[in-house]
Amino acid sequence: MNQNVQKEKQNVLKEEENVQKEKENSVGSSEAPVQNSGEITASASSKGKKSDSSTTDNGTSLSGKGGTDDIQTIANPASIDVLVNKQHKLPENYAPDDLVYPNVRFTFKEKIKKRMMREEAAQALEKLFKAADKDGLPLAGVSAYRSHKRQKTLFEAYVKKDGEEKARTYSAYPGTSEHETGLAIDVTKSDGSCAATGCFAGTPEAEWLAEHAHEFGFIIRYPEGKENITGYTYEPWHLRYVGQSEADNMFKNDLTFEEYADQALVATGS
Ligand SMILES: [Zn+2]
Repeated sequence: MNQNVQKEKQNVLKEEENVQKEKENSVGSSEAPVQNSGEITASASSKGKKSDSSTTDNGTSLSGKGGTDDIQTIANPASIDVLVNKQHKLPENYAPDDLVYPNVRFTFKEKIKKRMMREEAAQALEKLFKAADKDGLPLAGVSAYRSHKRQKTLFEAYVKKDGEEKARTYSAYPGTSEHETGLAIDVTKSDGSCAATGCFAGTPEAEWLAEHAHEFGFIIRYPEGKENITGYTYEPWHLRYVGQSEADNMFKNDLTFEEYADQALVATGS
């Protein structure tokens, strides 16, 4: 038994190494969405319950100045429609327990963690990719799941290099990256070009996604012109699975996830 655990550990380490290597080649692009204004105030958070506010996990060196005090810890991290953003973070010890490998094209061959998604999202993604294929706009996955540990390691390295204030402008604070939920994925054209970079905007693939992602339960999480609500610049490549009816609702009413969550709070009167 011990041997197995040991083996698994080694595999995980190996994977992390691979991810590290890849990441080093692409620092500064995709998952470090640049958003410079530290003054963003997302409307969803202000209405959230105050009960568990400012749970700044037992004094990690990361907390403190720089606006981390108003980050609330999410109570329902495993729900499909969990809202994760700069004001709502996943609990320190959360990891999804139903991660699988979606059977879709990726921009790399390795069977590593960043290929994984939660089961329901993975199945929906397979359908979405098939539909895109059918419409002559084949896609490829770039990056899906990222462990909390991984995000933390990355962020801490950035802080060391640039200081926390600067690091926070281009890297998600640990626990606040949607990729940690296993419900988000960055995609691009099947030839791998424009992977999680601005040149993906305006491509037929990006336009197809904007129009059809909701049919499969996904939303374009950081739409154009909503930066002051989501806290992120436009990312036409970042898909978030929220479930069919939620995605339809947000699409039809042209709502960001934050706006949708706000309305849901009002609707339930809580
Ligand atoms: Zn992303």
